[in-house]
Amino acid sequence: MADQHNPLPRAEVRIDLDAVKHNVELLTRLAGQSGAQTMAVVKADGYGHGAVAVGNAALAAGASWLGVASVDEALALRAAGIQARIFCWLHTVDDNFGPAVAAGIHLSVSSLRQLWAVNSAARAVGQEARVHLKIDTGLTRGGAQPADWPALVEAASAAHDEGTIEIAAVWSHLANADEPGHPSMDRQAARLDEAYKVVLDAGLHPLRHLANSAATLTRPDLHFDLVRPGIAVYGLNPVPGSADLKPVMTFRSSVSLVRRVPAGESVSYGHTWTADTDTTLALVPVGYADGVPRALSGQMDVWLGGSRRPVVGRVCMDQIVVDCGDDPITDGDEVILFGSGEHGEPTAREWADRTGTIDYEIVTGMYRPRVRRSYV
Ligand code: PLP
Repeated sequence: MADQHNPLPRAEVRIDLDAVKHNVELLTRLAGQSGAQTMAVVKADGYGHGAVAVGNAALAAGASWLGVASVDEALALRAAGIQARIFCWLHTVDDNFGPAVAAGIHLSVSSLRQLWAVNSAARAVGQEARVHLKIDTGLTRGGAQPADWPALVEAASAAHDEGTIEIAAVWSHLANADEPGHPSMDRQAARLDEAYKVVLDAGLHPLRHLANSAATLTRPDLHFDLVRPGIAVYGLNPVPGSADLKPVMTFRSSVSLVRRVPAGESVSYGHTWTADTDTTLALVPVGYADGVPRALSGQMDVWLGGSRRPVVGRVCMDQIVVDCGDDPITDGDEVILFGSGEHGEPTAREWADRTGTIDYEIVTGMYRPRVRRSYV
């Protein structure tokens, strides 16, 4: 029940930074056993959990790098006072490379064109650019094609000799790491190996990195010098059962109105559900504008008053209706939409399974101005 000093939220994601700490300690322990460092991936505002708060918690728990997609995300972390090494990998043609180089951000380079852009930014700001050369080993997204790799390494090596580029790493990204044993993993590792040899032959000895969460958890032979877990930092396991991770995000609300209705009353737009006995309905003021997928209409539960209860009728933009039977639910009672699952409440994974997506999309989709974020 809400009290005056601690009102229950309309829509809130609660972020458990102790759970981040637990997960990152587990990941850094695994990486450390292979002699690898850990980069916590905090792109997309920390997968919807808050990049700065999660980044700081991850660094305190043993991560030594943070990873993000864009230069702007990297610069936002610096602006928030984070001094650790930051790597970013997704660039537009005329990206903000000057400020990134000046801020010491590590930049991925996949092509000669990107190399020239980063190199000229380094000259302009009078500072060496830290570069991670990316080879496409089979994901077929970013990265240099193997045929273009020798020319990229040669050009980067020349810039290195001139003092404008530091070749800090060679890296790639896996396509099927969440399916342990998938044959493409070894093929990708072998291609990374070949690409790395070209760099060694040029007299350079940069770091090598490949592993996302799934490979960090299940393929110690692919840890190399650095691992890049993202989803596992948030306690969601891409290879269920492979580690004891703690989910970080709880999505909660509270009952705003309770009403008793007679058998035969129909609920919400389209009247898709009708009470077959007299029952108590609780109105919860969250809907698809707050991240509750409308596709869950008729197939979701919430945790309310110590048990799971069905949401009945359609999920609306701002509200859902919960069937509470004859139980004594009152306005102000806490409602858990999803959480860790440890008490029986729904999880982000359950929402994902029921809507044909992955839990990454569920939690990342909770980054919304209308949903309050709080940290515990
Ligand atoms: N490395 C790169 C380049 C990524 O794009 C991502 C996320 O998609 C990660 C690491 C982290 O992956 P995961 O969240 O599966 O651990």
